[in-house]
Amino acid sequence: MSTANNSVVLPAAGITGLFVNGEWRTPANGKTMVVENPCFRSPLATIGASDKDDVDSAVAAAKASFPAWRRLAARARGAMLIELGNRITAHQEEIARVLAAETGNALRTQSRPETQSAAEVLRYYGGTIAEQKGETLPLGPGLFSYTTREPLGVVGAIIPWNSPLVLAAVKIGMALGTGNTLILKPAEDAPLAVLKIAELAADIFPAGVFNIVTGSGIEAGAPLSTNEDVAKVSFTGSLEVGKLIAHAVADRIGRATLELGGKSPCIVYPDAATPEHIDATVNGIIAAMRFARQGQSCTAGSRLYVHKSVWDEVMTRVVGKVRELRIGDALDENTDIGAIINIERYTEVRNFIKEAIDSGAEVLTGSVPASPETAKGFYPEPVIVTGVDNSWRVCKEEVFGPVLVALPWEKEEEVIQWANDTVYGLAAYVFTNDLTTALRVTEQIDAGWLQVNRAGGQIPGMSYGGAKRSGIGAEYSIESALESYTSRKSVTINV
Ligand code: NAD
Repeated sequence: MSTANNSVVLPAAGITGLFVNGEWRTPANGKTMVVENPCFRSPLATIGASDKDDVDSAVAAAKASFPAWRRLAARARGAMLIELGNRITAHQEEIARVLAAETGNALRTQSRPETQSAAEVLRYYGGTIAEQKGETLPLGPGLFSYTTREPLGVVGAIIPWNSPLVLAAVKIGMALGTGNTLILKPAEDAPLAVLKIAELAADIFPAGVFNIVTGSGIEAGAPLSTNEDVAKVSFTGSLEVGKLIAHAVADRIGRATLELGGKSPCIVYPDAATPEHIDATVNGIIAAMRFARQGQSCTAGSRLYVHKSVWDEVMTRVVGKVRELRIGDALDENTDIGAIINIERYTEVRNFIKEAIDSGAEVLTGSVPASPETAKGFYPEPVIVTGVDNSWRVCKEEVFGPVLVALPWEKEEEVIQWANDTVYGLAAYVFTNDLTTALRVTEQIDAGWLQVNRAGGQIPGMSYGGAKRSGIGAEYSIESALESYTSRKSVTINV
C-alpha cells in the first residue's frame, strides 16, 4: 500500500488489499486503485484492484479450508470472533480515523460510534454462536429424528461504502461463526478501515478461512457472485446491483441475502409535539434522516409527514436545529456533518435537489450544492423541501444524500397510504405518545424495521431485513444468522 496522508495511520505497507490463504498477495494482473478523501478530494492510498483470477484463487482457498473449519466447535470459533472484537476496541481510535478519512463520515458523530459497534457486533456473535443447535423429534416407539444446523460452505460477502466497518463485522461474525468460510469484498470507495480489521484478523483465523479481495464491482464483485463454488452471497448495496446478484445466484440455485435500499417514512402525530415531547421528537426526526451521515443511510427517514396541526411548530424547530449542524472535515472533532462519498454520488444528489427546486418545491432550508467542478470537497448542505407531490422523483427514489421531503397530513388513512406508496419497505419511524396509535400504525406500514419514538441504528440481537424491494432475508440477530448461514440436516433413527 502506498500512502499520501500523514494524519491517519493507514493499513501497513504490504497490506495489498488481497488477503488469500493467510497471506497478502499482489493482484495477479498488478492493477491498483486510488482511495480518496472526499472532504478534500485528495488521494489517501493506493491499493490492489483484484479481478476474476484473484477472486477464483480466494474461493479455492476458502473451499479448501472449509472441511476443517466446519468441524471446529462453535465456541472455539466464537472465541476467535471475540478476540477480533477486542483487538478492534484496542485500536479503536486509529481505525475510526481511517474510516472518517475514506468515507467522509464525521469522526465524532459517525465513524467513532461505528467502530465501537463493529467490535460489539463481533463480541455478540462470539458469545452467542454456541446456540447453533438442532431439534429432536420423537416419531413413535424406537423412532426419532434429530436435526443439526450445517454451514453452507464458501460465503461471498459484498458490502457498500456507507457503513463499511459494521457491515464487515456483521458478515464476518455471521459467516465465520456458523462455520462457513468467507471472501469479503469491500466497496472500492471505502476499503481501508476494513483492511485495518483484516490486518488484526490475519493471525486469528486459520489460513483460507477469512479472505479479502478489494476491487471494483464489475471486476471483483461480479466474479464472486457467479463463482459456482460460492454457496451463498450476502449482499448489502443498491437495488440495481441486488438484482444482478439475485440473477447470478439463481443460475446455480445458490443462496443470497439481499439488504438493499430504502425510502423510509417518518410520521409525526400531534401528541408527540406537546411542550414536554417536542424536543425529543425534533431530535428524533433529524436522527432518523441521518443528516450526520449526509443522509447516506439505507434506513434514512427521508419522507417526513407531520400532522397539520403541529406542522409550523415542528418544522420551525427542525429547520432551526438542522441549520446549527456544522459541516466540515470529517476528522475535525467539531464537525457534525462530513462529505458525500464521491463525485458521482455528489452529482446525483445535486441533480435531485436541482430537479425538485426547478419543479417548484418550496425550500425550507438548504440550496443547490456547488457544482462538482468547483467544489473543494463534496460538502452538501442539508436540504428540506415541501410543496412537492408524493409522485415526484424526490419522493419516490432513494436520494442517498441529505435531502428531506416534508409534507403535512390530516387523515391517518391518507398518511399510511403515502407511507406505503413506495417500492421499498426497509424502515419507518412513528412519533406518538399513544400506545394504541403506535400499535395501529405500525401494523399497517409495510417495512422490515419500525421504530416508535426512537431513531437510532441497529442494536446487536435484533432481527433486521427489508420488506418489498428492500431485500430478501434477514440478518443481524443470532436467529437470523442461523437461518441465513446454515441449512438443516435431518437424521432419522430407528433404534
Ligand atoms: P452498490 O450496489 O453500488 O455497491 C455495493 C457493493 O456492490 C460494492 O462493493 C460494489 O463494488 C459492489 N458491486 C457493484 N456492482 C457489482 C456487480 N455487478 N456485481 C457484484 N458486486 C457489485 O451500492 P453503494 O452505492 O456502494 O451503496 C449504497 C446502497 O447500499 C444504497 O442503495 C443503500 O440503501 C444500500 N445499503 C443498504 C443497507 C441495508 O442494510 N439494507 C445498508 C447499507 C447500504
